[in-house]
Amino acid sequence: MSEIKRIGLLCSGGDSPGMNCAIRSVVRSAINANLEVYGIQRGFSGLLEGNIKELDVSSVGNIIQHGGTILQTSRCPEFKEAETRKEAAHILKRKKIDALIVIGGNGSFNGAYTLHTEHGIPMVGIPGTIDNDISGTDYSIGFDTAVQTAIDAVDKIRDTASSHERTFIVEVMGRKSAAIALHVGVCTGAENVVLPSENVNVEEISNDIKRGIKRGKNSSIIIVAEGEKEGLSHRIQEQLKADFELDSHVCILGHIQRGGNPSGQDRFIASGMGYLAIEELLKGNNSFVTAYRNGHVVAAPFDECLEKKSEYLPQYINLVKTLSI
Ligand code: ATP
Repeated sequence: MSEIKRIGLLCSGGDSPGMNCAIRSVVRSAINANLEVYGIQRGFSGLLEGNIKELDVSSVGNIIQHGGTILQTSRCPEFKEAETRKEAAHILKRKKIDALIVIGGNGSFNGAYTLHTEHGIPMVGIPGTIDNDISGTDYSIGFDTAVQTAIDAVDKIRDTASSHERTFIVEVMGRKSAAIALHVGVCTGAENVVLPSENVNVEEISNDIKRGIKRGKNSSIIIVAEGEKEGLSHRIQEQLKADFELDSHVCILGHIQRGGNPSGQDRFIASGMGYLAIEELLKGNNSFVTAYRNGHVVAAPFDECLEKKSEYLPQYINLVKTLSI
């Protein structure tokens, strides 16, 4: 492999709090090793538009505490086409970019890894998605902050729910991933959690609420993972009313969970991942993901990190139910 002098860096897919920490870490680790870093705005779309400019030490100053990403991000469906990736490879070559670092989820890693296998461009994936659903890594940047944001919101909802003796259905993010819902359910003392992979048993939810009322509970919180089809929380609300004569309120937390200042955990892990990305590239590793395994950031083969991991862990559902009797 020829010597690496110039690195490209982009974010792709959904943004997550802590991406800026990873950007800062990549840029400063690279400059420290006498490499140049070029920031690509708006993910693979920006790469195809040639929206690329050099990042210096100061350009990543004062960003560690901010959510979102200074590089912005995008979804670029046309990147699934070989011709588009060929064009991207040409642009990287023209800009004399020797290696590319992609911060994103498993979709972004599929795009990055295919670009590597087809065109030989050294490639690094840094896991960044609030869903924590990338195979091959125990953790992805943004999850801890997103969970804490949702916990803060549910705690506030619980205050009003108990004052008015109400049931709230709180919808959290996670199209296919159950991870946020499970963590938030356990940490807020929710009465029930509905996961994306489940058939919803509204009768069971109703029984749980009624049992709580009987023993003097003055509020119930049902956490619902958004799932792939919109409107699940409202369907549960309607069924609770129609079939079980239970009134409830729906609160959809939505994009609030993507923003906010990254937690200490997200800042720490993102900083470690950015540093390892540069260290491994300099060692000659030309295709890897900065995975988090057993409490450490390690270089893992790309092909172990391309799937969505399933976080359906029945023991957490049992935990929620046991603790909310
Ligand atoms: P998040 O989990 O936050 O949604 P993600 O990276 O999984 O992040 P996707 O929308 O799945 O998000 O993918 C982001 C982008 O990665 C896509 O818009 C596309 O540009 C690229 N991509 C996804 N899958 C592929 C693929 N199979 N081949 C090539 N490129 C892909």
